[in-house]
Amino acid sequence: MSAAIRIDPETGRKVFRTRAVKATDKIAGKGYSIIKDQALVTLPPPPPGARFDAEEQKKYREFKEARAGAADYMRMEGEFSRYLEDVYSEPPVPRDPLTDECEILVIGAGFGALLLWYRLMEAGFTDVRFCEKGGDVGGTWYWNRYPGIACDVESYSYLPLLEEMGHIPAMKFASGFEILEYCQSMAERFGFYDRCLFHTTVESTTWDESAARWIIRTDRGDAMRARFVVLANGILTTPKLARIKGMATFKGQSFHTSRWNYDIDLAGKRVGIIGTGATAVQVIPEIAKVVGQLYVFQRTPSSIDVRDQRATTPEEYATWPNEKKWAVKRRERHAQISAGRAALQGNDDFLAGKVDTFKQRKTYERQLSPKEMIERQLESNFRIMEQIRARVDAIVKDPKTAAALKPYYPYGCKRPTFHDEYLPTFNLPHVHLVDTAPLGVREINERGIVHDGAEYPLDVLIYATGFEWMGTGSFNMIRGRDGRTLSEKWGSEGTRTFLGMHTSGFPNLLIMNGPQGGGGQFNFTRVSEMHAKYVVWALAETKARGARSIDVTQEAEDEYSRHCAEMDLLSAPLRDCISYYNGDGKAKPGSLAYYGGGERWHQRRMAAQETMEPYIFDDAYQN
Ligand code: NAP
Repeated sequence: MSAAIRIDPETGRKVFRTRAVKATDKIAGKGYSIIKDQALVTLPPPPPGARFDAEEQKKYREFKEARAGAADYMRMEGEFSRYLEDVYSEPPVPRDPLTDECEILVIGAGFGALLLWYRLMEAGFTDVRFCEKGGDVGGTWYWNRYPGIACDVESYSYLPLLEEMGHIPAMKFASGFEILEYCQSMAERFGFYDRCLFHTTVESTTWDESAARWIIRTDRGDAMRARFVVLANGILTTPKLARIKGMATFKGQSFHTSRWNYDIDLAGKRVGIIGTGATAVQVIPEIAKVVGQLYVFQRTPSSIDVRDQRATTPEEYATWPNEKKWAVKRRERHAQISAGRAALQGNDDFLAGKVDTFKQRKTYERQLSPKEMIERQLESNFRIMEQIRARVDAIVKDPKTAAALKPYYPYGCKRPTFHDEYLPTFNLPHVHLVDTAPLGVREINERGIVHDGAEYPLDVLIYATGFEWMGTGSFNMIRGRDGRTLSEKWGSEGTRTFLGMHTSGFPNLLIMNGPQGGGGQFNFTRVSEMHAKYVVWALAETKARGARSIDVTQEAEDEYSRHCAEMDLLSAPLRDCISYYNGDGKAKPGSLAYYGGGERWHQRRMAAQETMEPYIFDDAYQN
């Protein structure tokens, strides 16, 4: 047995030492600066009488239709697989392949897995193993280390187990570097590293019906067996590239934002960045501080809302821990805010429990129908977007650049972003917005990007082109009871789950934070928390019944999938744009893979746990 694995003489269990060493110390990032200029941290009012009338609706429609079919992405395969390399860790720690058995095998070592491990420990499950592609914990926060990275949900509600860890983040929107270190501290404190196989990518997960076990094969030659498998491998994990003619011929240096190459010194260089989504919005203001010339290639502008970053005050450090369960309570208060914009900004007094409500509650003269409710939401949504557009005019000096930076789609239809330095960056003389609307960058040559007859020579090209969204890619290696893979099942029937946690025919498989999952509002950590508790409940219930497996009925799955489709159709007008949420406009209405229902998900979960009707338990749990 290799030195990376030893047997603990007390428990007889395997202990792993597979955490890779950091590849470089050059990575020293920070989150957003604190901005004092009131003009940057307040949103201008909407123009008087702003209405989402026929003319404005037409503008939105045209904005969308012009971009239809423009999104064209590719996987990082073949010569492009180099963009996937782990630039953050030294090569994998050598170890022998494993062919043994554990009770629970979890795929992933990000927030979901760390939280799950904590809850499993509490419930007395200890025979647990984690497989992680990266060289350390953190998931999203392991891979994404670009300059300017910070969380987009207020960190006091976003970071898990703050009270248990005795930690209060330094800023309202914590830097990604603080979050990564926090993940490492959790892993140290809770003995996670002893159970985790890093640099280990699961390649297939196959159900063996006769043994009622999953067989998990990895790229390290492992063929492990597990009674339960939990997928905690995230929803935006596989980076993708825009497919652009000539991209392989570029002679300069290039990388994707999720594999930031700090060995490339950007100081004084001509740098191009493709994409203006949530990642680019955080990156651009930071790299603009060092590069020589910055060219931002934009196809669609993001909505750039106020960030209003601030440091945690001495008073907050001193008083918050006095409230028992302060972090859980704060997260629960946060979850009460049902409007996306209000939730993402968070009202400090309400979240800290100082006041009972965060805004004047709207009262209607009568109960509105769901359709009327959507109409009202579209109206208020339009006014927010008018404010966001007014903010662009108020900050960006060049009228042509300002016009190109204005988004025309419902707020939240594409991922909303927040930043107080992004828009002012376009006033800097060395920062150039290259508006490639509506079709985007179509050509790259050995020197740089060619657009509209002009060539933009570049030393470094950065792809901020995002990730596969709930791509079935991660599900194509899971083979269930009837020999079908999960992606074959979902490919032919549409995404079908019960609560997003189970999918019938795949016994003892639990999915955290996956398609059709819900229970958390806008905060993914709350979703993870709810899903971790649910997973522990399902495992404990199976064990307590002496069953060998847990699955769900076809009826329960059909009914839940119908519910997700109805919710999708109902809220479709609010998502009428081209976005990765709807497969770049190609997803059939009603086929929404992402659900995110807050309280409705809990109602369904509680009903299921009470009646137990959706579940099928197989006999004879053998230890
Ligand atoms: P993204 O939102 O998918 O953005 C990809 C960008 O690339 C879009 O602006 C897209 O334009 C553009 N693009 C693609 N092909 C192009 C072409 N040929 N020419 C020009 N532009 C092109 O990816 P992301 O910014 O990495 O964000 C992904 C998600 O990660 C976020 O939505 C968020 O959920 C998460 N995230 C979170 C945080 C945080 O919490 N701190 C930070 C960053 C990211 P179109 O819009 O026209 O398609």
